Amino acid sequence: MAKFKIAFHWQILIGMTLGVVWGLLAINFGFLQFTDFYIKPWGTIFINLLKLIAVPLIIVSLISGVGNLTDIGKLSRIGWKTLGFYILTTVIAISVGLIIVNLTNPGKVFPEDKAQEFKQKFAENVKQKQQQAVEMKNVSPLQPIVDIVPSNIFKSFTDNTKMLQVIFFSILFGIAMVLLPDEKVRPVKDFVNSLNDIVLKIIDIIMKSAPYGVFALIAALMVDVAGNNPKDTLSLFAALGVYSLTVILGLLTMIFVIYPLFIKIFTKIKFNKFLKAIGPVQLLAFSTSSSAATLPFTMETAEEKLGVSNETASFVLPLGATVNMDGTSLYQAVAAVFLAQVYGMHLDLAQQLTIIVTATLASIGSAAVPGAGIVMLVIVLTAVGIPTEGIALIFAVDRPLDMLRTAVNVTGDTTIASIIATGEDELDVAVANS
Ligand code: ASP
Repeated sequence: MAKFKIAFHWQILIGMTLGVVWGLLAINFGFLQFTDFYIKPWGTIFINLLKLIAVPLIIVSLISGVGNLTDIGKLSRIGWKTLGFYILTTVIAISVGLIIVNLTNPGKVFPEDKAQEFKQKFAENVKQKQQQAVEMKNVSPLQPIVDIVPSNIFKSFTDNTKMLQVIFFSILFGIAMVLLPDEKVRPVKDFVNSLNDIVLKIIDIIMKSAPYGVFALIAALMVDVAGNNPKDTLSLFAALGVYSLTVILGLLTMIFVIYPLFIKIFTKIKFNKFLKAIGPVQLLAFSTSSSAATLPFTMETAEEKLGVSNETASFVLPLGATVNMDGTSLYQAVAAVFLAQVYGMHLDLAQQLTIIVTATLASIGSAAVPGAGIVMLVIVLTAVGIPTEGIALIFAVDRPLDMLRTAVNVTGDTTIASIIATGEDELDVAVANS
């Protein structure tokens, strides 16, 4: 008998939908504790599974990618091109955000009494985020570069927040391999290539549990956000409706206008095929709110469904997950202008340009984990002189917006990976368009 198989993106969508349904049932019928005790842990296990393989994946795929290169010049060419595209798309994302927010003016329709209410309600959270941002700011401007170079690589291997250090070391290792005669490095090359296959297989196995994982994540999230006071949550969302719609409109513009243009201009991939291939990646990013947790699957998909070479994917995507966040930067620009409007401030052109520069840097500095964007937003607000307490106003809707901006972040990374691979003649168009 033929086996009936549901396509993977449908499996994930079904998982998400059932998560929403369960969340609603739990809120209405009071299974809050049950959800917290018996469903949420499965979501945590799923995220842990994804994270546990991220560092090994970066190490083996970068070492095998760079180590198999025949000329080092190519690496620096790819490096500069990648950075150039990353900065270009980030600046475009911020500009899209600024244009839309200046048209919709969400801060001008925000009720004054709500502003006061939110400030009291979220005062504690604001203090926490401000503190985190201060810790990040009181250092030399060169600190981010210093932070890329670890003093003990084994410590970096054990810390998921040190991805850039792991990338740095793996590239160094790969370069050393290329510079040595082949017979000297052959055993290590073979070993790492074989490890690479094993790690990819592990990701395959982990992804089989994705539909269940996203079910648990979404159900637990709904209970966390709205569990104790669903009516209150609804009224928070309603007050922030225009602001949220502005961010959503900006993010959708990136996915349906800007990236298709890039794909059309710089690659031979049909956009509908591109979207179909990365749909599951977007759904996973949406469910986990973390580009870092999604990275293993992003890389697997880029190689297997878009035909991007291992060499390109292993360099461009881990770098993108850590530094390229178009969705985050767009959201930061919209949030900054929204808050300025609520505070009755008029932002002139120079201040809006400052937003472009600081939001670019802030998105590069944001970690690829849930909620990182709002911490760095504090720095953007400080740069243009908007009171940072303002983030209390947008706290309530930050998580759903985080989910969507993370989906945009991974779409941006995959778009650039496809472009770089096309430029290097390392993209199998037949695979991408099949
Ligand atoms: N959650 C986002 C990411 O992982 C970062 C953020 O905007 O908070 O890409």
